[in-house]
Amino acid sequence: MQVTEAVAWFQAYADRLQQEKEHLTELDSRIGDGDHGANMARGWKAVKEELESFDQGLSECFMQVSKTLIAKVGGASGPLYGTAFLRMSMKLKGEASVSPGDWAELIQAGAEGIRQRGKVSGGEKTMYDVWAPLVDAARDGADLEETVLLRSLAETAREKAEATREMKATKGRASYLGERSIGHLDPGAVSTALLFEVLCDTLSREGM
Ligand code: ADP
Ligand code: MG
Repeated sequence: MQVTEAVAWFQAYADRLQQEKEHLTELDSRIGDGDHGANMARGWKAVKEELESFDQGLSECFMQVSKTLIAKVGGASGPLYGTAFLRMSMKLKGEASVSPGDWAELIQAGAEGIRQRGKVSGGEKTMYDVWAPLVDAARDGADLEETVLLRSLAETAREKAEATREMKATKGRASYLGERSIGHLDPGAVSTALLFEVLCDTLSREGM
């Protein structure tokens, strides 16, 4: 993945979030306060606009995304995604591209940021329950061809987001519901699955 592809990824994700806004809001209204769709759609719309004339490197691109998410998404998820992109930007310093063998370390940097910022360790029914297993999936797929690896990440992300349904929330707003959070998907886990699905779709597109 080079910077032009990263920009295409983030812009396509912004578009996808406009389509999924209502769905994410509905998920968040079941176990939270119903703003996750609007928060994400608003923040990523700003990301898309800012990247329209982007002409710097990969690390700077992730840094720009981080700053915009922190400023524009709000809620718990803004600083969490913002921290993930900040850590990934730091990992990408001086790099012109991400090869299949680089994804594990890159995602790990993002996941670590969420773990520290969110004070989670896994199993709390949050977006971290998708980010963390992606590190292992990326490590397992390090020798695969890029599109095959990204397909496997997208599938893992969707599977792990689905797995939050049976978890009891013990962090974030959903934890106020205790047992009653069981049976519902975590909205941040679902928006993370979408992020990796759009990554796969964008980089698999012809001409990319
Ligand atoms: P808020 O909860 O402030 O309304 P959002 O609705 O935008 O913010 O985001 C909610 C999502 O944030 C949750 O679905 C969950 O995935 C994630 N989240 C909340 N708290 C934490 C935390 N401490 N660690 C990791 N992720 C969290
Ligand atoms: Mg919310």
